[in-house]
Amino acid sequence: MTVVKPNLFDYDRQGLRDLFASIGEKPYRADQVMKWMYHRHVTDFGQMTDVGKALRDKLSAAVDITPPKTIFEKQSADGTHKWLLGMDGSNAIETVFIPETSRGTLCVSSQVGCGLNCQFCSTATQGFNRNLSTAEIIGQVWVAARHLGNVPHHQRKLTNVVMMGMGEPLLNFEHVVRAMSVMRDDLGFGLANKRVTLSTAGLVPMIDRLSEESDVSLAVSLHAPNDELRTELVPLNKKYPIAELMGACQRYVAKRPRASITFEYTMMKGVNDKPEHARQLVKLMRKVPSKVNLIPFNPFTGTRFERSEEEVIRQFQKILLDAHVLTTVRRTRGDDIDAACGQLKGQVLDRTRRQAEFRRKLEGQVDAA
Ligand code: SAH
Repeated sequence: MTVVKPNLFDYDRQGLRDLFASIGEKPYRADQVMKWMYHRHVTDFGQMTDVGKALRDKLSAAVDITPPKTIFEKQSADGTHKWLLGMDGSNAIETVFIPETSRGTLCVSSQVGCGLNCQFCSTATQGFNRNLSTAEIIGQVWVAARHLGNVPHHQRKLTNVVMMGMGEPLLNFEHVVRAMSVMRDDLGFGLANKRVTLSTAGLVPMIDRLSEESDVSLAVSLHAPNDELRTELVPLNKKYPIAELMGACQRYVAKRPRASITFEYTMMKGVNDKPEHARQLVKLMRKVPSKVNLIPFNPFTGTRFERSEEEVIRQFQKILLDAHVLTTVRRTRGDDIDAACGQLKGQVLDRTRRQAEFRRKLEGQVDAA
């Protein structure tokens, strides 16, 4: 029988210290190992030269440091880099790095597939398989950081993480929060709180829980300014309608005086891009300190939606800007390698069997919160 050893990527700083304590080692030893892992990308205990030989041997015997396996990686003409990372069996998820002049953003997945069934998202067509572990989430950042460390252009540095890849991060709460803590830890990736963003389709009770347990930027996938249309596009809206969602957003910023919420709004031709939608959106945005990020719809095989015309997006943006709502249009990046928003698919197996289980879990987690 093979014994699975603990993978150190599954622990945050406190967890590692506790693990080390359980094998009779001091906390600072855990800190040293953490620095080797995250600052120098070393996974072999033998190379950790400031850790004594006896402890290195003890660690090698008891634990592992195993990052996700890269199945393939691909670079877009615009510099966007996508990894397909192997999880268990034949499941795989995608991670995307988007370099810009003044920052580099990594888009990280939280689940294998997604069960929320947003009508315009290609991840939804894959169904849901399972939550990612902490190691599988932080491992995505590790793989990208190691790659970027090897590239000698400073503008390619990883400065921001957005939990906007495959999956609904608030349905994998514990692992996502733990991984985000390593992202922000000085012994981990040392990112500022505001440079780590969690994006949600709007799980109201879990937004409240996040507000208590973590301090990161929050983005909300709104996509429609009224309940009728939003329920059609984002079925979760039936359970948590817009008024309740805005309430959770207000509570989130109330605890963080200078914070604002980013509302994502995918622009779909003839669906949610009319001037009246923009005017309704202005009214909603008055309720909470906010920014709007308009995302031109990215097409994928089999979708019934189309991208709004550029001029229509500009007009929509103008209505918001004229009403003093800070509004940006997300530049489409990496679409030549299917790495743009809503195009991530990975490889999701077993999805039908897991669908029913997921629905039960969704009910359970949401009700328990
Ligand atoms: N489940 C979370 C995290 C995924 S974020 C959430 O919903 O926020 C992925 C972002 O891309 C979301 O804002 C999503 O609504 C948007 N998106 C999905 N499909 C898209 C598409 N085809 N074109 C453009 N944006 C899309």
